[in-house]
Amino acid sequence: MRRSVKKIKLIFVMILMVFTLVASNTINHYQLGANSPVSQECLIVGTGDCRGVSTTPSLPTPMPEIIVTEQDRFLAAIAPHLSTIPQVGSYEYILLRAYGAAFINQNPAVQLPATVLLQDEPETLAFQETLTMMKVDGTNDCYLQASAATALNEARSQQNIPLKSGYGSGDCTRSFATNLRFWYKYANRNTLEQVRAGKETAILGVVAPPGTSQHLWGLAIDLRVSNAQQRQALYEHGWFQTVAKDVPHWTYLGVKLEDLPQLGLKQQVINGISYWLTPL
Ligand SMILES: [Zn+2]
Repeated sequence: MRRSVKKIKLIFVMILMVFTLVASNTINHYQLGANSPVSQECLIVGTGDCRGVSTTPSLPTPMPEIIVTEQDRFLAAIAPHLSTIPQVGSYEYILLRAYGAAFINQNPAVQLPATVLLQDEPETLAFQETLTMMKVDGTNDCYLQASAATALNEARSQQNIPLKSGYGSGDCTRSFATNLRFWYKYANRNTLEQVRAGKETAILGVVAPPGTSQHLWGLAIDLRVSNAQQRQALYEHGWFQTVAKDVPHWTYLGVKLEDLPQLGLKQQVINGISYWLTPL
């Protein structure tokens, strides 16, 4: 029952988003009508030629008052990619909260997995085989999804933005095995149990649990960003920091900075760095 109410609310929010886009047009049309000489005169009873003109201006139907939260907007934005929202408190929900900002990508050419958790190497490979990849200019084997690479190449043509650890694939799209290897550099089986139980979250900003990294999706890169100009060039090309406290980690969202709040992401400044986080 709760689920269907949520679904109805989600559909309503999507309709509301479309309405918002056309609303200004509707208002403009109404104002044009009201300002034309004949309808102005007809607004004063008994003056002017009112034949065929209604003295009652047709106002747009008022929308019922509804509170649309950041979370509503976020869930509406990710719905085209993620048909099933994980249950609150589940491991997948925890992962969606930490890494799910990438799902707001509105570019139809960008692919995202059907779930936030890729189970193993074969599942990761099967997903990665569906991607159209492109090399990041000036690197040996750093690949990203083509839209992400194109945007990054443009940003890096404006500003010198080095990769975190050099010019290899480790900073870019990774295999399941690399994700696993990185995890065991910083964490262990017990840490994973703690994360799954919702008792440990800090590690998520250091390293992603096996099968959950944005680097598996071809939409993340680790960079060495040291000044505002580099940051600005990345923002202008749809790249943002979306994983709290993971300083070198950048995510391709493919949208403008000013559109992020409308898509439900919330800005949080931590140690002087501006992150765009999910509202979950
Ligand atoms: Zn990273």
